[in-house]
Amino acid sequence: MILMNIEGNNRVQTPVQKLNKFLGNELYVKREDLYPYSFGGNKVRKAIIFFDDLIKKEFDCVITYGSSSSNHCRIIANLAAAKGIPCHIISPLQSNYLTFNTKIIKMFDAILSYCQISEVKATIDRKIEELKFKGYKPYFIQGGGHGDIGTQAYVNVYNEIVEYELNNEFNFDYIFHATGTGTTQAGLVCGKLLKGDTREIVGISIARKNPHGGNVVLESVNSYFKSLSKKPVTIDEINFADDFVLNGYGSYNKQILQSIKDVLTYDGVPLDTTYTGKAFWGMKEYIKKNQIKDKKILFIHTGGTPLFFDKLGDLTDDE
Ligand SMILES: *Cc1c(COP(=O)(O)O)cnc(C)c1O
Repeated sequence: MILMNIEGNNRVQTPVQKLNKFLGNELYVKREDLYPYSFGGNKVRKAIIFFDDLIKKEFDCVITYGSSSSNHCRIIANLAAAKGIPCHIISPLQSNYLTFNTKIIKMFDAILSYCQISEVKATIDRKIEELKFKGYKPYFIQGGGHGDIGTQAYVNVYNEIVEYELNNEFNFDYIFHATGTGTTQAGLVCGKLLKGDTREIVGISIARKNPHGGNVVLESVNSYFKSLSKKPVTIDEINFADDFVLNGYGSYNKQILQSIKDVLTYDGVPLDTTYTGKAFWGMKEYIKKNQIKDKKILFIHTGGTPLFFDKLGDLTDDE
């Protein structure tokens, strides 16, 4: 029922907000974090389509994986609880620390299994077999909502951006966002190519380096295109900026903390250190380095609100 209300009528449009003067450009933020389900974010956009598929095909439990800070796992656990079906989450031991997302996931009674990072795939396979043996029909969702369905979610968002532009009679020259598994970026790039648009979509990597990071986005784009019987594209279509990953997933610096403080102070928009704050800082550096001026820029706020509170202590001076 909840799913029907949210996506069934396909009319949820997240707001676009103009920020204060920005390095000689106009900056707008698409507030995907305000998507009205479970603290919003790009993982809801993907999860809702996965759950539509699960329900249509009559699966009766769900299995996925992610770290303890995972926004994806929070949303999947929430949707599963709402639907009254068991939710199994495989989590790497290495990232097993307590976050607000972990607490929320536990509140939904999701069943967590921890394993070594090298054992994730084997653990998932074993869990799926075990569930089948018990008579369940398990629905598997890749970490982060990766796959053609996840890509579809951001093709839809790209189209929503185009609709916003038509209604407001201007176009964005650039779209920036945090990129992780690359599914969000793949969806936006597919949406752009399907419309024949030429603007730049810049994924600011929060963890992966090239060539791997960009290649994963490319594979997602071409997998989606294949499902539409379209010709594959080349890596030239993918702008995967890996200059801002620092020491990898979850790492951040003083400038990121300062960006988060500034954006919250002057525009009232919360960002986090792992995804959106890191990408926002990366975007500013990218704009300076490439001397981008007098452009209209859209930053997609991909969500992760609970992560803001995990690092609140680091944002105050008396840490
Ligand atoms: C997962 C996530 C991303 C990255 O999205 P991908 O589709 O995996 O690239 C960005 N921002 C937030 C807040 C996320 O939770």
